[in-house]
Amino acid sequence: VERALSKDEILKLRRKHFCPAQSISYANTDPLLILRGEGSYLYDEAGNSYLDTRNNVCHVGHSHPRVARAVAQQVEQLNTNTRYLHPNLCLLAKRLTETFPTGSGLEVCFFVNSGSEANDLATRLAFARSRSRNIIVVDHGYHGHTQQTIEISPYKFDHKGGEGAKPNIFKVPCPDTFRGPHRGEDAGERYAADVAAACKRAGSVAAFFVESGMSVGGVILPPPGYLQSAYQSVRHAGGVCVADEVQVGFGRFGDYFWAFEQQGVTPDIVTMGKPFGNGMPLAAVVTTKEVSDAFHNGLEYFNTFGGNPVCCAAGLAVLDIIREEKLQAHAAEVGGVLRRRLAELAQRHRWIGDVRGQGLFIGIEFVRDRDTLEPATAETSDICSRMKDEHKILMSIDGPHDNVLVMKPPMCFSQADAESMLNALDSVLATLQDRRGSAITPTPT
Ligand code: PMP
Repeated sequence: VERALSKDEILKLRRKHFCPAQSISYANTDPLLILRGEGSYLYDEAGNSYLDTRNNVCHVGHSHPRVARAVAQQVEQLNTNTRYLHPNLCLLAKRLTETFPTGSGLEVCFFVNSGSEANDLATRLAFARSRSRNIIVVDHGYHGHTQQTIEISPYKFDHKGGEGAKPNIFKVPCPDTFRGPHRGEDAGERYAADVAAACKRAGSVAAFFVESGMSVGGVILPPPGYLQSAYQSVRHAGGVCVADEVQVGFGRFGDYFWAFEQQGVTPDIVTMGKPFGNGMPLAAVVTTKEVSDAFHNGLEYFNTFGGNPVCCAAGLAVLDIIREEKLQAHAAEVGGVLRRRLAELAQRHRWIGDVRGQGLFIGIEFVRDRDTLEPATAETSDICSRMKDEHKILMSIDGPHDNVLVMKPPMCFSQADAESMLNALDSVLATLQDRRGSAITPTPT
């Protein structure tokens, strides 16, 4: 009976039982009631299908039958806390650590329930290893919703309602080579020099947190040489380097299983989440023996749900599917075509200021003027709404100016899906109204 609630009834219950700060997409226009998913499609209560270009949680495809089976079989047999030995946990640790470059030393796993929890634990690991409490973070970065992770997330602490940077947090510029302070060939070195300067200002450093591909920052990839040089400064100041792979890990970058590999660096701590369980709450921190030894200081670590047999079964199925369905190579191929075709669209539509990304992690930045780079914020909001209303394609908006369409679809996103998205965007851009001077409506992300 409860499942048969109408959309109006659901909205009424939401208004009564939830805080308006708990956001949903298209809240100001027509929020979607989604009841089913398959592959790269979501289905509403009337059976309408929506192409999903933004869901990086259902990594191997919505409701993948193999993940569903693995979870169902395990839940029928056992699901409990992590007090006992179970093969799933250890097998998953083995399989997961085998995905890191040989010789990386990344071999100790902590399984947790969310990306926030993973980054929260990563700060504890860093603090256990260092006497310093200073953390270097990248402007516009996001690492989670807990108190500790908000304190390392400029996207939150600098936002309206945020509390600003705490004295132990040292913020460096976002390495944006399109509109950031450093552009051009040597941008990587210059952004890394900002990290070196922050290390100097801080005196001592416990950790440097950076997303290997910044998502809410608007699809910002570290420019060549950035991480190599930044890691050197951080390590010189005594800190560990944390790669947040919550958005971009597990093959999304196509040419790389882990996005940090693109920079030729080895982090001391890697955090991951979203795609790992294909929607099941499974996340992890992977680190070296050296860091893990420092954490083994007498204080027990116990996590009731982290690494339970059911979520681990989902994680094992996800790793199998990525390999057997060759989804990493698929991401490289479809992502490559998408970026090429988007660059062609940019020749016909003046709104497109930049197309960037890697594999199936793509950003399209819209500007009103290619010289001044004035962000086309209201127009990007219109594009996103019209993609949904006129073409049933779900997209998301990010970036500090809310003018970047971010694509991070399920990894099974096909060439045909890419074609549909490109045709729809072409037609929306052909009739896009300039909104300069008009009131800006809130962004439907
Ligand atoms: N890190 C990054 C880069 C993220 O994008 C997110 C979530 N958007 C998190 C951490 C937090 O993950 P979760 O929502 O699972 O707590």
